[in-house]
Amino acid sequence: MIKKKIAIIGGDKRQGYLAENFSQKFFVDIFYLQGNFDEILENYDVYILPMPITKDGIHLNTNFSENQVKLIDIIKKIPENSIILGGSITSEAKKMFETENLKIIDYLLYENLAILNAIPTAEGAIQIAFENMEITLSGSNSLVIGNGRIGKILSKKLSALGSKTTVLARKSEDFADILSNNIKTTTIEKVQFDRYDVIFNTVPSMILDEKSLLKISDKTLIIDLASKPGGVDFKASQKHNKKVIWALGLPGKVAPKSASKYLYTTIIDILDNLEVK
Ligand code: NAP
Repeated sequence: MIKKKIAIIGGDKRQGYLAENFSQKFFVDIFYLQGNFDEILENYDVYILPMPITKDGIHLNTNFSENQVKLIDIIKKIPENSIILGGSITSEAKKMFETENLKIIDYLLYENLAILNAIPTAEGAIQIAFENMEITLSGSNSLVIGNGRIGKILSKKLSALGSKTTVLARKSEDFADILSNNIKTTTIEKVQFDRYDVIFNTVPSMILDEKSLLKISDKTLIIDLASKPGGVDFKASQKHNKKVIWALGLPGKVAPKSASKYLYTTIIDILDNLEVK
């Protein structure tokens, strides 16, 4: 059987590890897009783009390149009928592909990957807390806002480290789940923001607005994990001198090798379903 050809384009450290994994089964070329890429992108069976595919809606996400490469310039080089995968694809980006008669699959919509990515995200959040707090997590009061994939893993890890952890949620099944792990619960109506040494937000909408921020001590470390536009009013937090860290892209930063392994197994599943072997 002729080995299929895969092009891995842009991205961060994860792409290097991904190429290593794929090279066991496929011919792989990796393009960090440092030089000229005219011609070189043609003739692949599968194109793997980074996550997020673009940070500003215009350029491809290329952490390793000084060059700013327009996403549309990459799209125009991909032949029709290619299999294209990428992560966190906005509807605007999707439209750019469709206009060129291309279809892109968002691997981040696969639940397995989202759950696995929550592991390095939770570990990275804890690492940031260690580095930015003057007290130990053990014995500290911590609040986790949201009991989704990240919230569940993070609250259990904090609790295991000896932090007195509370999770803010809103659904009865979440309260039962949290309590089953021996962790305290609260709601947005009842929460006493001034009680916590560290607050982690995982809710992907504005939850720590100016009114809530004013109830939080200047000494409390706030770590926002929610993707853009985030869950904290950053302008208000600066105005009122709150200690806020918006920590994005943690899987790729803190555990690129593990994160790329998760990505590899997810993409292999997708390719198997498409009968690309
Ligand atoms: P998720 O599983 O969808 O969890 C989000 C949680 O927020 C849900 O449990 C949801 O509960 C809860 N929520 C929404 N509105 C709420 C409210 N008003 N009050 C209380 N809870 C509320 O998402 P996830 O996978 O944990 O990811 C969370 C965020 O982190 C996303 O923005 C994701 O893109 C981002 N992320 C960041 C990193 C990083 O490196 N920082 C890495 C991966 C993902 P309900 O069921 O009640 O709506």
